[in-house]
Amino acid sequence: MKIICIGRNYADHAKELNNPLPTEPVFFLKPDTALLPAGSPFYIPDFTKDLHYECELVLKIKKVGKNIPLKFAKDYYEEVSLGIDFTARDLQEQCKTKSLPWEKAKAFDNSAPMGTHFKKVADMDLSNCGFQLHKNGQLVQDGKTSDMIFSVDAIIAYVSQYFTLKTGDLIFTGTPAGVGPVAIGDHLEGFLEGEKILDLKIK
Ligand code: MG
Repeated sequence: MKIICIGRNYADHAKELNNPLPTEPVFFLKPDTALLPAGSPFYIPDFTKDLHYECELVLKIKKVGKNIPLKFAKDYYEEVSLGIDFTARDLQEQCKTKSLPWEKAKAFDNSAPMGTHFKKVADMDLSNCGFQLHKNGQLVQDGKTSDMIFSVDAIIAYVSQYFTLKTGDLIFTGTPAGVGPVAIGDHLEGFLEGEKILDLKIK
C-alpha cells in the first residue's frame, strides 16, 4: 500500500507557512514504513530539531481505480479516520530552499501515525465535518472539511490520473491551521465529529 498526502489544502494553513494557494492539488507520497499503528508510541527522530504535527482527515481506498471521474470518486472510499503527517520542518525548509524533494522531511519511518479506528462515511456528512487536535489537553487545530480547497472527490479524481489507487491505500487530505512543534512527553489527541479517534504519546 501507499500513502498519498495532499499539501496546502486549507487556505489558513498555506498562509501560516507563507505558501501560495495552489491552483491544483499538491501531493507527495509516504512509503508503507511511514505507518505507525494506533497504540504505538512515537519517538522523535534524531535528525530534526523542529518536528511538527499536522492533523489530517485520512481516507481509506476500498478498490482499485485509475483515471477516476469526479462523479464516481465517492465509490472508491467508505471509511475515514485521522492521522498525523509528521513533518521535520527544519529539513523541509532546507529542501524547499534548495528546490529539492521533501521526502526526508515527510516520509521517514513512523511519520504517519494513524487513528485507532475508521468511521463510516455513510454515517457523516464528509463535505462538512469537523476534526480537532489537542496537544496536552489544549486545542491546537480545529478543522472543517468544508474549508478544503480541493474536496475529497476532487483529490481522488486528480491523483488517480497519475497513480493507480489500490485497495488499502491511504490519502491524507491536508491540514488546517495551527500546526506546531512536539516535544518529548507531549500527548496528542484527535477528535473526528466529536469522537476521540487518535491518541499518541511522544517519546
Ligand atoms: Mg500535511
